[in-house]
Amino acid sequence: MTIAAAPRALARPRLTVDLDALARNYAGYQALSGRAETAVTIKADAYGLGADTVGRALARAGCQTFFVANAEEGVRLRESLGPAPTIYVYNGVLDGEAALFAAHGLAPVLNDVWQIEHWARDAGPSVPAAALHIDTGMSRLGVSAREVEALAGRADLLHAARIALVMSHLACADEPDHPLNPIQARALHDAVARLRPALPKARASLANSAGVCLGPDYAFDLTRPGVGVYGGAPAPSAPALDVVATLEAPILQVRELQPGDTVGYGSTYAARERRVAATVALGYADGFLRAGSGRGYGVLAGVRAPILGRISMDLVTVDVTEAGAAARPGALVEFLGPNVALEDAAAAAQTLNYEMLTGLSARCDRRYVGAGA
Ligand SMILES: *Cc1c(COP(=O)(O)O)cnc(C)c1O
Repeated sequence: MTIAAAPRALARPRLTVDLDALARNYAGYQALSGRAETAVTIKADAYGLGADTVGRALARAGCQTFFVANAEEGVRLRESLGPAPTIYVYNGVLDGEAALFAAHGLAPVLNDVWQIEHWARDAGPSVPAAALHIDTGMSRLGVSAREVEALAGRADLLHAARIALVMSHLACADEPDHPLNPIQARALHDAVARLRPALPKARASLANSAGVCLGPDYAFDLTRPGVGVYGGAPAPSAPALDVVATLEAPILQVRELQPGDTVGYGSTYAARERRVAATVALGYADGFLRAGSGRGYGVLAGVRAPILGRISMDLVTVDVTEAGAAARPGALVEFLGPNVALEDAAAAAQTLNYEMLTGLSARCDRRYVGAGA
């Protein structure tokens, strides 16, 4: 007897993640990273693409080191990937968290002197080696240059905290000519040199995706790209990589608009002539940002379908006049993917590719294609 698979709800958006494109992008960042190890930043559920499956695909592609934002993300990734990879936690370790880090083999990025002291005290020989974050110009997380000076004289403390990586983060890497870029690289060099006697074997890391694209002076020993591996352009000048995420949503209804008919909440769009409008199952509750109302577009059958009026919670209306017979209930309209660049969709919503991707909600039906799907 065969049991039919439960039918899948279709009247909702689908997010297709191409694991082969992901692996190609990872290889691209490895090539750009030169001799440095290429780790991947997989925080925020792999920028909305699903950290479990994405993490396994990256591990198969050779990635051995991952960065997440908090320990909760680290625990889930550890369950998915098993004991082998190194998992660093950017947000550091707060009072009361050390046992959680130890239990799941998570390595904290130590961001202040208190964290270094506490990790040194709590860390037994079986806990993973930690990273030390130096603030070189972001004023967000990390110890200051003055604190580095004091820490350089505390070799016993740095040993006890088992620091294996000294890292910093670029503030303006998406602007290749920004003067802060070389200043930050130099500041990290200086801090590493200052700590070298106490930490003879520690490696150094500075570059996110845009930092990798700045060239070999920024790669140090380990790079940690995120958005570029997921197919987002980290900077306008960065090399284009392969599309990983495709967002499509089905047409629910097609109607003819007569001159004067208005569309959606607030009646912000009024037809001036006869148009054909399709109502699509995609809204801001799926993460399709309302700020793109009346500005963004989808693509149906290779033809642009501009958004008409406001994006609502569950629905968006697009102009499918030019798409002809392709506009029918059930047909999929693309909103991100090979025909709609993530950067264009983000610009229409007055935001970044990062926010567009990480905002896609769990209501999207995630599907994986490629090796390991
Ligand atoms: C998010 C993050 C990264 C990855 O940045 P991308 O721009 O996505 O490549 C690297 N380092 C730190 C500290 C981060 O917070």
